[in-house]
Amino acid sequence: MPELPEVETVRKLLEPVVKDEEIADIVVYKKRIIQGSTDVFINTLRGRHFRNISRIGKYLIFHLDGNLVLLSHLRMEGKYIEIGPEDPISRFCRVLFIFKSGKRLCYDDSRQFGIMKLTDEDHFLMEKELTNVGPEPFVIDKDYFYQRLHRLKKSVKEAILDQKIMTGLGNIYADEVLFATHIHPETPACTLSRSQTDDIVASSIHILHEAIAAGGSTIRSYHPSKGIDGHFQNTLQAYGREGEKCYRCGHIMKKIRVGGRGTTYCPYCQINPTKPIVVGITGPVASGKSLIAKIFSEAGFVVFNSDHAVRELYDDADFKNIIAEVLKTNITDSEGQIDRRKIGIIIAENSQKRKAIEQLIHPLVRKKLEEMIAHSSAPFLVAEVPLLFESGFDDLMQYVVGVTTETSKQIEFLTNRGSDVDLSLSLNASNKFSRYEKKVDYLIINLFSQEELKANVNKIILDIKSSRQ
Ligand SMILES: [Zn+2]
Repeated sequence: MPELPEVETVRKLLEPVVKDEEIADIVVYKKRIIQGSTDVFINTLRGRHFRNISRIGKYLIFHLDGNLVLLSHLRMEGKYIEIGPEDPISRFCRVLFIFKSGKRLCYDDSRQFGIMKLTDEDHFLMEKELTNVGPEPFVIDKDYFYQRLHRLKKSVKEAILDQKIMTGLGNIYADEVLFATHIHPETPACTLSRSQTDDIVASSIHILHEAIAAGGSTIRSYHPSKGIDGHFQNTLQAYGREGEKCYRCGHIMKKIRVGGRGTTYCPYCQINPTKPIVVGITGPVASGKSLIAKIFSEAGFVVFNSDHAVRELYDDADFKNIIAEVLKTNITDSEGQIDRRKIGIIIAENSQKRKAIEQLIHPLVRKKLEEMIAHSSAPFLVAEVPLLFESGFDDLMQYVVGVTTETSKQIEFLTNRGSDVDLSLSLNASNKFSRYEKKVDYLIINLFSQEELKANVNKIILDIKSSRQ
Protein backbone atom coordinates (compact mmCIF):
# COMPACT_ATOMS: atom_id res chain seq x y z
CA MET A 1 0.00 0.00 0.00
CA PRO A 2 1.45 3.38 -0.87
CA GLU A 3 2.17 5.53 2.15
CA LEU A 4 2.12 9.31 2.41
CA PRO A 5 5.56 9.92 0.81
CA GLU A 6 4.61 7.79 -2.19
CA VAL A 7 1.27 9.58 -2.56
CA GLU A 8 3.08 12.92 -2.35
CA THR A 9 5.44 11.73 -5.09
CA VAL A 10 2.48 10.68 -7.22
CA ARG A 11 0.98 14.15 -6.67
CA LYS A 12 4.15 15.88 -7.77
CA LEU A 13 4.51 13.73 -10.90
CA LEU A 14 0.87 13.75 -11.87
CA GLU A 15 0.28 17.48 -11.56
CA PRO A 16 2.24 18.48 -14.70
CA VAL A 17 0.56 15.61 -16.61
CA VAL A 18 -2.99 16.88 -16.03
CA LYS A 19 -2.45 20.61 -15.53
CA ASP A 20 -4.69 22.71 -17.81
CA GLU A 21 -5.87 19.65 -19.74
CA GLU A 22 -9.51 19.85 -20.81
CA ILE A 23 -11.56 16.72 -20.22
CA ALA A 24 -13.23 15.72 -23.51
CA ASP A 25 -14.78 12.57 -22.13
CA ILE A 26 -14.60 9.97 -19.38
CA VAL A 27 -15.18 6.22 -19.64
CA VAL A 28 -15.99 4.45 -16.37
CA TYR A 29 -15.26 0.72 -16.64
CA LYS A 30 -15.93 0.00 -12.96
CA LYS A 31 -18.70 1.97 -11.33
CA ARG A 32 -17.66 0.93 -7.80
CA ILE A 33 -14.60 3.21 -7.99
CA ILE A 34 -16.89 6.27 -8.26
CA GLN A 35 -18.70 7.35 -5.09
CA GLY A 36 -22.13 8.68 -6.04
CA SER A 37 -23.73 8.78 -9.50
CA THR A 38 -21.45 7.82 -12.38
CA ASP A 39 -23.58 9.83 -14.83
CA VAL A 40 -23.32 12.98 -12.72
CA PHE A 41 -19.57 12.33 -12.39
CA ILE A 42 -19.08 12.11 -16.18
CA ASN A 43 -21.47 14.90 -17.16
CA THR A 44 -20.15 17.37 -14.60
CA LEU A 45 -16.50 16.81 -15.47
CA ARG A 46 -16.88 16.86 -19.25
CA GLY A 47 -15.47 20.13 -20.64
CA ARG A 48 -13.69 21.01 -17.35
CA HIS A 49 -9.97 21.75 -17.00
CA PHE A 50 -7.69 20.29 -14.38
CA ARG A 51 -5.78 22.95 -12.50
CA ASN A 52 -3.52 21.76 -9.69
CA ILE A 53 -3.37 18.79 -7.33
CA SER A 54 -3.06 19.06 -3.56
CA ARG A 55 -2.97 16.30 -0.96
CA ILE A 56 -4.36 15.70 2.52
CA GLY A 57 -3.08 12.53 4.14
CA LYS A 58 -3.23 9.90 1.44
CA TYR A 59 -6.00 11.65 -0.51
CA LEU A 60 -5.11 13.25 -3.83
CA ILE A 61 -7.22 16.36 -4.36
CA PHE A 62 -7.62 17.42 -7.99
CA HIS A 63 -8.78 21.03 -8.32
CA LEU A 64 -10.67 21.90 -11.51
CA ASP A 65 -12.29 24.98 -12.95
CA GLY A 66 -15.95 25.59 -12.16
CA ASN A 67 -15.12 25.30 -8.44
CA LEU A 68 -14.94 21.50 -8.77
CA VAL A 69 -12.82 19.12 -6.71
CA LEU A 70 -12.10 15.46 -7.36
CA LEU A 71 -10.93 13.36 -4.40
CA SER A 72 -8.95 10.22 -5.20
CA HIS A 73 -7.56 7.56 -2.87
CA LEU A 74 -5.31 4.88 -4.36
CA ARG A 75 -5.79 2.38 -1.52
CA MET A 76 -3.85 -0.84 -2.25
CA GLU A 77 -2.99 -0.87 -5.93
CA GLY A 78 -4.39 2.26 -7.56
CA LYS A 79 -2.16 4.10 -10.05
CA TYR A 80 -2.43 6.67 -12.79
CA ILE A 81 -1.00 5.85 -16.21
CA GLU A 82 -0.59 8.40 -18.98
CA ILE A 83 -1.10 6.98 -22.49
CA GLY A 84 -1.11 8.42 -26.00
CA PRO A 85 -4.17 8.63 -28.30
CA GLU A 86 -3.34 5.35 -30.08
CA ASP A 87 -2.04 3.32 -27.13
CA PRO A 88 -4.12 0.47 -25.74
CA ILE A 89 -5.58 1.16 -22.31
CA SER A 90 -3.84 -0.43 -19.36
CA ARG A 91 -4.77 -3.91 -18.14
CA PHE A 92 -6.74 -2.87 -15.06
CA CYS A 93 -7.99 0.48 -16.32
CA ARG A 94 -11.11 1.33 -14.29
CA VAL A 95 -11.62 4.97 -15.25
CA LEU A 96 -10.30 6.59 -18.44
CA PHE A 97 -9.95 10.37 -18.80
CA ILE A 98 -9.78 11.46 -22.46
CA PHE A 99 -8.33 14.95 -22.91
CA LYS A 100 -9.05 17.31 -25.74
CA SER A 101 -5.33 17.31 -26.52
CA GLY A 102 -5.51 13.62 -27.40
CA LYS A 103 -3.61 12.59 -24.28
CA ARG A 104 -5.38 10.04 -22.09
CA LEU A 105 -5.07 9.09 -18.43
CA CYS A 106 -5.94 5.61 -17.11
CA TYR A 107 -6.83 5.10 -13.49
CA ASP A 108 -5.60 1.52 -13.12
CA ASP A 109 -6.51 -0.58 -10.08
CA SER A 110 -6.21 -4.38 -10.02
CA ARG A 111 -7.81 -4.68 -6.57
CA GLN A 112 -10.54 -2.07 -7.16
CA PHE A 113 -10.30 -0.72 -3.60
CA GLY A 114 -9.49 2.83 -4.71
CA ILE A 115 -12.15 5.52 -4.76
CA MET A 116 -12.97 8.76 -6.59
CA LYS A 117 -15.46 11.30 -5.37
CA LEU A 118 -16.66 14.50 -6.98
CA THR A 119 -17.24 17.48 -4.71
CA ASP A 120 -16.46 21.21 -4.79
CA GLU A 121 -14.15 23.80 -3.26
CA ASP A 122 -16.71 24.88 -0.66
CA HIS A 123 -17.42 21.40 0.63
CA PHE A 124 -14.49 19.08 0.08
CA LEU A 125 -12.94 19.71 3.49
CA MET A 126 -16.23 18.68 5.09
CA GLU A 127 -16.38 15.33 3.25
CA LYS A 128 -16.26 12.52 5.78
CA GLU A 129 -13.13 11.11 4.15
CA LEU A 130 -11.22 14.27 5.01
CA THR A 131 -12.77 15.20 8.35
CA ASN A 132 -11.52 11.85 9.69
CA VAL A 133 -7.97 12.76 8.79
CA GLY A 134 -5.86 14.22 11.59
CA PRO A 135 -3.09 16.76 11.06
CA GLU A 136 0.13 15.70 9.36
CA PRO A 137 3.35 15.70 11.43
CA PHE A 138 4.52 18.78 9.50
CA VAL A 139 1.76 20.90 11.04
CA ILE A 140 0.65 18.99 14.15
CA ASP A 141 0.47 20.86 17.45
CA LYS A 142 2.84 19.10 19.83
CA ASP A 143 0.69 19.81 22.91
CA TYR A 144 -2.34 18.30 21.17
CA PHE A 145 -0.32 15.22 20.13
CA TYR A 146 1.00 14.65 23.66
CA GLN A 147 -2.47 15.11 25.18
CA ARG A 148 -4.06 12.67 22.73
CA LEU A 149 -1.45 9.97 23.35
CA HIS A 150 -1.46 10.61 27.08
CA ARG A 151 -5.09 9.44 27.26
CA LEU A 152 -4.51 6.20 25.35
CA LYS A 153 -3.90 2.84 26.99
CA LYS A 154 -3.20 1.16 23.66
CA SER A 155 0.29 0.72 22.27
CA VAL A 156 2.23 3.60 20.76
CA LYS A 157 2.37 1.71 17.45
CA GLU A 158 -1.43 1.60 17.25
CA ALA A 159 -1.65 5.23 18.36
CA ILE A 160 0.67 6.56 15.67
CA LEU A 161 -1.10 4.46 13.02
CA ASP A 162 -4.43 6.04 14.00
CA GLN A 163 -4.90 8.51 11.16
CA LYS A 164 -7.50 10.44 13.17
CA ILE A 165 -4.83 11.45 15.69
CA MET A 166 -2.07 12.14 13.19
CA THR A 167 -2.06 11.30 9.52
CA GLY A 168 0.95 10.27 7.54
CA LEU A 169 2.45 7.19 9.12
CA GLY A 170 1.52 3.81 7.66
CA ASN A 171 2.93 0.51 8.84
CA ILE A 172 6.35 1.00 7.22
CA TYR A 173 7.07 4.51 8.49
CA ALA A 174 5.56 3.81 11.93
CA ASP A 175 8.23 1.12 12.43
CA GLU A 176 10.89 3.50 11.15
CA VAL A 177 9.84 6.31 13.50
CA LEU A 178 9.75 4.05 16.57
CA PHE A 179 13.16 2.65 15.70
CA ALA A 180 14.57 6.15 15.24
CA THR A 181 13.15 7.29 18.59
CA HIS A 182 14.23 4.14 20.52
CA ILE A 183 10.63 3.43 21.56
CA HIS A 184 9.33 -0.13 21.85
CA PRO A 185 6.21 -0.49 19.68
CA GLU A 186 4.19 -2.07 22.51
CA THR A 187 4.89 0.73 24.99
CA PRO A 188 1.51 2.01 26.21
CA ALA A 189 0.95 5.42 24.60
CA CYS A 190 -0.09 6.93 27.94
CA THR A 191 3.32 6.22 29.48
CA LEU A 192 5.28 8.27 26.95
CA SER A 193 6.92 11.44 28.20
CA ARG A 194 6.42 14.79 26.52
CA SER A 195 9.95 14.65 25.12
CA GLN A 196 9.22 11.22 23.61
CA THR A 197 6.05 12.40 21.87
CA ASP A 198 7.98 15.45 20.63
CA ASP A 199 10.65 13.06 19.32
CA ILE A 200 7.99 11.08 17.46
CA VAL A 201 6.76 14.22 15.71
CA ALA A 202 10.28 15.40 14.85
CA SER A 203 11.31 12.00 13.61
CA SER A 204 8.12 11.59 11.56
CA ILE A 205 8.82 14.89 9.80
CA HIS A 206 12.41 13.90 9.13
CA ILE A 207 11.61 10.39 7.88
CA LEU A 208 8.68 11.48 5.70
CA HIS A 209 10.76 14.29 4.18
CA GLU A 210 13.57 11.88 3.39
CA ALA A 211 11.14 9.38 1.88
CA ILE A 212 9.52 12.07 -0.25
CA ALA A 213 12.95 13.14 -1.48
CA ALA A 214 13.90 9.51 -2.19
CA GLY A 215 10.64 8.87 -4.03
CA GLY A 216 11.29 11.90 -6.18
CA SER A 217 14.75 10.77 -7.11
CA THR A 218 13.81 7.16 -7.84
CA ILE A 219 11.09 8.17 -10.23
CA ARG A 220 13.44 9.90 -12.65
CA SER A 221 14.53 6.56 -14.02
CA TYR A 222 10.98 5.27 -13.93
CA HIS A 223 9.20 4.72 -17.22
CA PRO A 224 5.95 6.71 -17.25
CA SER A 225 4.02 4.01 -19.10
CA LYS A 226 4.53 1.71 -16.13
CA GLY A 227 2.39 4.05 -14.14
CA ILE A 228 2.71 6.48 -11.32
CA ASP A 229 1.78 4.21 -8.47
CA GLY A 230 3.92 5.17 -5.58
CA HIS A 231 5.70 1.86 -4.99
CA PHE A 232 9.24 3.02 -4.58
CA GLN A 233 12.35 1.61 -3.02
CA ASN A 234 13.44 3.26 0.16
CA THR A 235 16.32 2.74 2.49
CA LEU A 236 14.62 1.40 5.55
CA GLN A 237 16.22 0.92 8.96
CA ALA A 238 13.59 -1.29 10.62
CA TYR A 239 10.72 -2.33 8.36
CA GLY A 240 11.34 -5.63 6.59
CA ARG A 241 14.62 -6.24 8.45
CA GLU A 242 13.48 -9.11 10.68
CA GLY A 243 16.33 -11.53 11.38
CA GLU A 244 18.94 -9.02 10.21
CA LYS A 245 21.37 -7.12 12.40
CA CYS A 246 20.34 -3.76 13.80
CA TYR A 247 22.29 -1.00 12.05
CA ARG A 248 22.81 0.68 15.43
CA CYS A 249 23.78 -2.08 17.85
CA GLY A 250 24.18 -5.31 15.87
CA HIS A 251 21.48 -7.28 17.73
CA ILE A 252 19.01 -9.26 15.63
CA MET A 253 15.84 -7.37 14.67
CA LYS A 254 12.60 -9.02 15.79
CA LYS A 255 9.17 -9.16 14.26
CA ILE A 256 6.04 -9.24 16.40
CA ARG A 257 2.39 -8.40 15.84
CA VAL A 258 1.08 -5.23 17.43
CA GLY A 259 -2.61 -4.43 17.01
CA GLY A 260 -2.71 -7.02 14.24
CA ARG A 261 0.11 -5.42 12.24
CA GLY A 262 3.51 -6.98 11.61
CA THR A 263 6.04 -4.87 13.50
CA THR A 264 9.84 -4.98 13.31
CA TYR A 265 11.97 -3.56 16.08
CA CYS A 266 15.33 -3.95 17.80
CA PRO A 267 15.10 -5.75 21.17
CA TYR A 268 18.19 -3.95 22.40
CA CYS A 269 17.58 -0.37 21.25
CA GLN A 270 13.83 -0.33 21.87
CA ILE A 271 12.93 -1.36 25.41
CA ASN A 272 9.38 -1.42 26.76
CA PRO A 273 9.67 0.17 30.23
CA THR A 274 6.40 -1.43 31.39
CA LYS A 275 7.38 -5.02 30.70
CA PRO A 276 10.17 -7.39 31.67
CA ILE A 277 12.79 -8.28 29.10
CA VAL A 278 12.14 -11.93 28.32
CA VAL A 279 14.95 -14.28 27.42
CA GLY A 280 14.15 -17.72 26.03
CA ILE A 281 16.44 -20.69 26.50
CA THR A 282 16.02 -23.53 24.09
CA GLY A 283 17.85 -26.52 22.69
CA PRO A 284 17.70 -30.31 22.60
CA VAL A 285 17.14 -32.53 25.60
CA ALA A 286 19.96 -32.66 28.14
CA SER A 287 21.99 -29.93 26.46
CA GLY A 288 22.27 -27.80 29.60
CA LYS A 289 19.20 -25.55 29.45
CA SER A 290 18.35 -25.88 33.14
CA LEU A 291 21.90 -25.14 34.15
CA ILE A 292 21.86 -21.99 32.03
CA ALA A 293 18.48 -20.98 33.46
CA LYS A 294 19.99 -21.39 36.93
CA ILE A 295 22.85 -19.01 36.08
CA PHE A 296 20.28 -16.46 34.82
CA SER A 297 18.29 -16.96 38.02
CA GLU A 298 21.36 -16.27 40.14
CA ALA A 299 21.79 -13.02 38.20
CA GLY A 300 18.30 -11.91 39.26
CA PHE A 301 16.18 -13.19 36.37
CA VAL A 302 12.76 -14.59 37.28
CA VAL A 303 12.50 -18.10 35.84
CA PHE A 304 9.64 -19.63 33.89
CA ASN A 305 10.04 -23.35 33.33
CA SER A 306 7.73 -24.80 30.70
CA ASP A 307 8.25 -28.35 31.99
CA HIS A 308 6.95 -27.23 35.38
CA ALA A 309 4.02 -25.53 33.67
CA VAL A 310 3.17 -28.80 31.92
CA ARG A 311 3.44 -30.67 35.21
CA GLU A 312 0.97 -28.21 36.76
CA LEU A 313 -1.43 -28.96 33.92
CA TYR A 314 -1.11 -32.68 34.55
CA ASP A 315 -2.17 -32.14 38.15
CA ASP A 316 -5.46 -30.69 36.98
CA ALA A 317 -8.30 -33.24 37.11
CA ASP A 318 -10.12 -31.90 34.04
CA PHE A 319 -6.92 -31.86 32.07
CA LYS A 320 -6.27 -35.50 32.98
CA ASN A 321 -9.59 -36.46 31.35
CA ILE A 322 -8.90 -34.40 28.24
CA ILE A 323 -5.48 -36.01 27.79
CA ALA A 324 -6.93 -39.49 28.22
CA GLU A 325 -9.55 -38.66 25.59
CA VAL A 326 -7.01 -37.33 23.11
CA LEU A 327 -4.73 -40.35 23.55
CA LYS A 328 -7.65 -42.78 23.80
CA THR A 329 -5.74 -44.61 26.52
CA ASN A 330 -5.67 -44.73 30.27
CA ILE A 331 -2.65 -42.65 31.24
CA THR A 332 -2.89 -42.72 35.02
CA ASP A 333 -0.83 -44.89 37.32
CA SER A 334 -2.14 -47.07 40.14
CA GLU A 335 -2.57 -43.98 42.34
CA GLY A 336 -4.63 -42.10 39.76
CA GLN A 337 -1.79 -39.71 38.94
CA ILE A 338 -0.77 -38.99 35.35
CA ASP A 339 2.03 -41.30 34.30
CA ARG A 340 4.31 -39.04 32.30
CA ARG A 341 6.50 -41.92 31.23
CA LYS A 342 3.50 -43.71 29.78
CA ILE A 343 2.55 -40.58 27.80
CA GLY A 344 6.15 -40.27 26.68
CA ILE A 345 6.14 -43.81 25.29
CA ILE A 346 2.82 -43.27 23.50
CA ILE A 347 3.81 -40.05 21.82
CA ALA A 348 7.29 -41.27 20.94
CA GLU A 349 5.63 -44.05 18.94
CA ASN A 350 2.73 -42.13 17.43
CA SER A 351 3.41 -38.81 15.74
CA GLN A 352 -0.29 -38.01 15.31
CA LYS A 353 -0.97 -38.40 19.02
CA ARG A 354 2.13 -36.37 19.72
CA LYS A 355 0.85 -33.56 17.52
CA ALA A 356 -2.56 -33.66 19.19
CA ILE A 357 -0.95 -33.41 22.63
CA GLU A 358 1.28 -30.53 21.56
CA GLN A 359 -1.65 -28.64 20.07
CA LEU A 360 -3.42 -29.04 23.37
CA ILE A 361 -0.53 -28.16 25.65
CA HIS A 362 1.33 -25.36 23.82
CA PRO A 363 -1.49 -22.75 23.98
CA LEU A 364 -2.02 -23.48 27.69
CA VAL A 365 1.66 -23.14 28.52
CA ARG A 366 1.83 -20.00 26.38
CA LYS A 367 -1.05 -18.53 28.36
CA LYS A 368 0.78 -19.17 31.63
CA LEU A 369 3.90 -17.49 30.26
CA GLU A 370 1.91 -14.54 28.90
CA GLU A 371 0.27 -14.07 32.30
CA MET A 372 3.62 -14.15 34.01
CA ILE A 373 5.04 -11.54 31.59
CA ALA A 374 1.95 -9.34 31.99
CA HIS A 375 1.97 -9.40 35.79
CA SER A 376 5.65 -9.55 36.59
CA SER A 377 7.21 -6.42 37.99
CA ALA A 378 10.68 -7.90 37.56
CA PRO A 379 12.83 -6.23 34.91
CA PHE A 380 14.16 -9.53 33.55
CA LEU A 381 12.58 -12.90 32.98
CA VAL A 382 14.05 -16.11 31.61
CA ALA A 383 11.93 -18.90 30.11
CA GLU A 384 13.19 -22.40 29.54
CA VAL A 385 11.25 -23.80 26.57
CA PRO A 386 12.56 -26.94 24.80
CA LEU A 387 10.37 -26.53 21.67
CA LEU A 388 10.51 -22.73 21.63
CA PHE A 389 10.47 -22.22 17.85
CA GLU A 390 8.25 -25.21 17.08
CA SER A 391 5.61 -23.88 19.47
CA GLY A 392 5.94 -20.33 18.12
CA PHE A 393 6.82 -18.88 21.54
CA ASP A 394 9.74 -16.94 20.07
CA ASP A 395 7.55 -13.87 19.49
CA LEU A 396 7.28 -13.50 23.28
CA MET A 397 11.05 -13.27 23.68
CA GLN A 398 13.33 -10.31 23.17
CA TYR A 399 16.30 -12.67 23.09
CA VAL A 400 16.75 -16.38 22.53
CA VAL A 401 19.70 -18.28 23.90
CA GLY A 402 20.23 -21.57 22.06
CA VAL A 403 22.27 -24.37 23.52
CA THR A 404 23.55 -27.49 21.83
CA THR A 405 25.91 -30.25 22.78
CA GLU A 406 27.13 -33.59 21.46
CA THR A 407 25.14 -36.83 21.76
CA SER A 408 27.81 -38.33 24.03
CA LYS A 409 27.34 -35.40 26.43
CA GLN A 410 23.54 -35.73 26.26
CA ILE A 411 23.79 -39.42 27.19
CA GLU A 412 26.12 -38.53 30.06
CA PHE A 413 23.68 -35.87 31.36
CA LEU A 414 20.68 -38.19 30.99
CA THR A 415 22.41 -41.06 32.76
CA ASN A 416 23.49 -38.80 35.62
CA ARG A 417 19.93 -37.54 35.86
CA GLY A 418 18.61 -41.11 36.05
CA SER A 419 16.49 -40.66 32.91
CA ASP A 420 15.52 -43.28 30.37
CA VAL A 421 18.19 -42.44 27.79
CA ASP A 422 16.57 -44.18 24.80
CA LEU A 423 13.13 -42.76 25.45
CA SER A 424 14.47 -39.24 26.01
CA LEU A 425 16.51 -39.26 22.83
CA SER A 426 13.67 -40.68 20.78
CA LEU A 427 11.26 -38.06 22.19
CA ASN A 428 13.82 -35.46 21.30
CA ALA A 429 13.74 -36.49 17.64
CA SER A 430 11.03 -33.89 17.01
CA ASN A 431 13.18 -31.12 18.46
CA LYS A 432 14.30 -29.43 15.27
CA PHE A 433 16.68 -27.11 17.07
CA SER A 434 19.42 -27.41 14.45
CA ARG A 435 16.98 -26.00 11.90
CA TYR A 436 16.44 -22.91 14.08
CA GLU A 437 20.04 -22.36 15.15
CA LYS A 438 20.34 -19.33 12.88
CA LYS A 439 17.39 -17.63 14.60
CA VAL A 440 18.94 -17.50 18.05
CA ASP A 441 20.58 -14.37 19.37
CA TYR A 442 23.19 -16.22 21.39
CA LEU A 443 24.38 -19.74 20.66
CA ILE A 444 26.15 -21.77 23.30
CA ILE A 445 27.92 -24.99 22.36
CA ASN A 446 28.04 -26.74 25.68
CA LEU A 447 31.04 -29.04 25.53
CA PHE A 448 33.23 -27.66 28.22
CA SER A 449 33.37 -27.33 31.98
CA GLN A 450 30.67 -25.76 34.13
CA GLU A 451 33.03 -22.86 34.86
CA GLU A 452 33.41 -22.12 31.19
CA LEU A 453 29.68 -22.39 30.65
CA LYS A 454 29.09 -20.02 33.53
CA ALA A 455 31.56 -17.48 32.14
CA ASN A 456 29.90 -17.64 28.73
CA VAL A 457 26.41 -17.21 30.13
CA ASN A 458 27.46 -14.33 32.37
CA LYS A 459 28.80 -12.50 29.33
CA ILE A 460 25.38 -12.86 27.70
CA ILE A 461 23.64 -11.70 30.87
CA LEU A 462 25.82 -8.56 31.01
CA ASP A 463 25.01 -7.77 27.39
CA ILE A 464 21.26 -8.22 27.91
CA LYS A 465 21.25 -6.21 31.12
CA SER A 466 23.05 -3.33 29.45
CA SER A 467 20.01 -2.75 27.20
CA ARG A 468 18.09 -1.53 30.28
CA GLN A 469 20.75 0.96 31.33
ZN1 LIG B 1 19.62 -2.06 18.01
